[in-house]
Amino acid sequence: MSDEIKELKEKLFSGRKNGYDRFDSTEQAAMEAYCDGYKSFLDKGKTERLCAVETIRLAEEKGYKPYVRGMEVSSGDKVYLCNRGKSVMLAHIGKKSLAEGAQIAAAHIDSPRLDLKPNPLYEESELAYFKTHYYGGLRKYQWVTIPLELRGVIALKDGTTAAVNIGAEEGDPKLVITDLLPHLGQEQSKKPLAEAVPGETLNLLLGSRPIGDEDDTGRVKLAVMKLLNEKYGITEDDFTSAELEAVPAAGACDIGLDRSLIGAYGHDDRVCGYAALKALLDLEETPEKTAVCVLADKEEIGSDGVTGMQSAAFDTFMEDLCAAQDVPVRVCFEKSFCLSADVTAAYDPDYAEVYEKRNAAFVNYGIGLCKYTGARGKSGASDADAETVAYVRRLFDDAGVIWQIAELGKVDAGGGGTVAMYMANRNITTLDAGVPVLSMHAPFETVAKLDCWETYKGMKAVYEAKN
Ligand code: MN
Ligand code: MN
Repeated sequence: MSDEIKELKEKLFSGRKNGYDRFDSTEQAAMEAYCDGYKSFLDKGKTERLCAVETIRLAEEKGYKPYVRGMEVSSGDKVYLCNRGKSVMLAHIGKKSLAEGAQIAAAHIDSPRLDLKPNPLYEESELAYFKTHYYGGLRKYQWVTIPLELRGVIALKDGTTAAVNIGAEEGDPKLVITDLLPHLGQEQSKKPLAEAVPGETLNLLLGSRPIGDEDDTGRVKLAVMKLLNEKYGITEDDFTSAELEAVPAAGACDIGLDRSLIGAYGHDDRVCGYAALKALLDLEETPEKTAVCVLADKEEIGSDGVTGMQSAAFDTFMEDLCAAQDVPVRVCFEKSFCLSADVTAAYDPDYAEVYEKRNAAFVNYGIGLCKYTGARGKSGASDADAETVAYVRRLFDDAGVIWQIAELGKVDAGGGGTVAMYMANRNITTLDAGVPVLSMHAPFETVAKLDCWETYKGMKAVYEAKN
């Protein structure tokens, strides 16, 4: 190749390369420390409620105070509001008025899992089970024959709540969903993947030891109920007002001989949630504009509901903050910017056929921007405008953030959504960006440490933006 052609290529072609070829090695130790913090965040927050608790603990450690309506808020103040124990909004009040807009990062802290049905407990063939109803888009065949733990709450009529934790502590028993043995799986093996494990077979095995005499019936169920009553003081009817979630029992760990990756349950979307939170908590100075971090619930089932991103809870929180500065919230929103921080699909060479390689997100290529998500002809996407993408390119480049731009997969291969459209619908300029994930929505997902770190840096760049 002539020097002239080489020069021309360097000048005109995209410089897209592996993040490790651009990575500043002096950041290595900080990246590892960040990822250690992230792994601990994951292990402590396997449900949205637990994640909210851990978020508040970390925020209070950094001087955040619970927001109370009517409270005076001035530049430099750090406040948070927890919405019904399941989503958290945090704000670091900026130097400029909220009339100049806020810099928002919005992620979600709910993840696909198996919820218990309202009448979950039963006995069949002298085995006791819980019936489940899956939450979010999960591939049912992945949730059998893996150790599961049960987390959540049982709300009692007297107004108290019992926190349930079966399987998370050292030495605890775990729960499991059984599967057919291959020897008898001939017919099942012929079924399409989506049908091979029907939703009604996702039943959690709870016990097998009967109590009482052999002429008694329902003895195994009774034995289980007795144990639950001893531990939580509940009776069968109390399941009616419970939110119990079966989640993978495995903890977060390094993956690969080089420890370059992290395997865990719930990367989607706690990997962006943690980045958005940690970047906010690590702000050393009062930001120019008010920095807001939203950790929403219910994204995996459409962002509906009182704790989802479509809820007026966010508008109310912002309106209250704006009211303290005599600013109409609509004025704030139209000047605000939101990074919808959610994961994207990482290119998987084993399933190359569903990706379009020129527009796929790659592991170790940094935080992945998505101009649009959605399905088919961009249906369900907010489709950020070119100016917004340019704005984020500049922010990230100025802050030395390693980033890439991608689509979720091939056109017509499927699709997905995020909270982006719900923010954009509020008249907030919004762009999607997040960590590329391998085996997204599986009980054990994989991400690259470099991408986690660059996402954190990206969030920081958004909060620290001067305009
Ligand atoms: Mn997500
Ligand atoms: Mn998801």
